[in-house]
Parts: sequence; structure tokens; C-alpha cells
Amino acid sequence: MKLEELNIKYLLLSPEERIRELYKDFDKVLFTSSFGTTAAYLLHLFHKVNPNETIYFLDTTYHFNETIEYKETLTRLLNLNVVDVKPEDWKNNFTQKDKTWNTDPDLCCSINKVEPIDKIKVNYDVWVSGLMSAQSVHRQNLKVFEQKDDIIKFYPLIDQNEANAKDHMKANALPQHPLLSQGYSSVGCFHCTVAGKGRSGRWVNKSKTECGLHL
Ligand code: SF4
Repeated sequence: MKLEELNIKYLLLSPEERIRELYKDFDKVLFTSSFGTTAAYLLHLFHKVNPNETIYFLDTTYHFNETIEYKETLTRLLNLNVVDVKPEDWKNNFTQKDKTWNTDPDLCCSINKVEPIDKIKVNYDVWVSGLMSAQSVHRQNLKVFEQKDDIIKFYPLIDQNEANAKDHMKANALPQHPLLSQGYSSVGCFHCTVAGKGRSGRWVNKSKTECGLHL
């Protein structure tokens, strides 16, 4: 099915219905999670539809301890099949010594996020992400399906927002990310994240707004 046809078919479906249809339309589904503040919403929906799905967690080595704890909590609670993906040691060591997040955050994200996923995404047809259009101007015009380079991106939550995520998590007794109560609406690496509303706490005082994985 062409991208346009997929977008028409999925437009009026709920996030859960979209995920159910995805497994009818695609065989090789890549699911990554940052275990951020809204991650439990999508993890829970996938868990309902396909509890055996592999969830790749990009371990940049720069995560807050609270994110690692949250990942472990959700993994236990939902019995998730989580696989850590890591950057090459020597390149990651270089970014540690160089403090590349200060001088060239695009290079740092490329080494620690984009390259490790690039290696596994060649094995998949479609890549799932929990992006929501309300999160930033760069995400506003995204559709449920988008072509990105050589893979199709699938955004089942694109017409959802943080309130929907909060409601779903509350209704299903899912725990919140521990940093949410400390004012962090969005959580990434500790070098590049401070407390703030929306994505305002990410890459503060830098022109960068996205890590490059999805956009
Ligand atoms: S978010 Fe910051 S520390 Fe993490 S990989 Fe990107 S630039 Fe490096």
C-alpha cells in the first residue's frame, strides 16, 4: 500500500486501532522507546496489542538515573522485552572526553543515537515513534506515516497530546517518569536537559531542537 493510502486508512483510527492495523500491513516493525515522560502511553498500547514486541532502548550512556529506574519499573510492570542499543565504545568515549554535547551536539547525537539505530533499522520496514504534533513546530505537520530516508516512520500518537498521555496513564495505573514531578516535561540526556514546559528544557541556548533520530 502506498504512503498516501496508508495515511487515509489510518487517519480516523484511534492509536490502539492504528497499532492493530500496523501488524496487518507490515511484517517487520521496529519499536524504539526513550522511556521519557509520555513513553508509558505508547508502551502500554503496544503491550496490549503485541506483548512480545521487542522494544529497543537507546542507551547513550548519558541518561538520568531516574530514566533508567523508570525503564526498569515499566519493564517489570508490563513484562516488556527491552533490548539496549549502545554506541560504539571508542566513539562514545571520544564524546565523553571531548564534551561534544557542548561543542557539536549534532555530532554527539549522531554518534550516540543515530548511528546505533542506523545499524539495526536496515532489518525493518517500519519504525514506530511516539511523536505528537503538539510537541513542537517541527512535528506539527507530520502524518501517521512519513517516509524518512529508507524507512517508513509510523506515528500512532501524532494527533494526541500530553494530556491524552496523562489521562491514559492515570486510567491504567501506569507510573509517571520520576522527573515529571520535578518540572521536567521532556527528558533526554542529562547533559542536554533541564526542567521546563514542553520541550523548552531540551538543548537550552542551542539552535538544536531534535536529536536527529526522527526529524
Ligand atoms: S542529547 Fe546531548 S548528550 Fe545526548 S547524544 Fe545528543 S548531544 Fe549528546
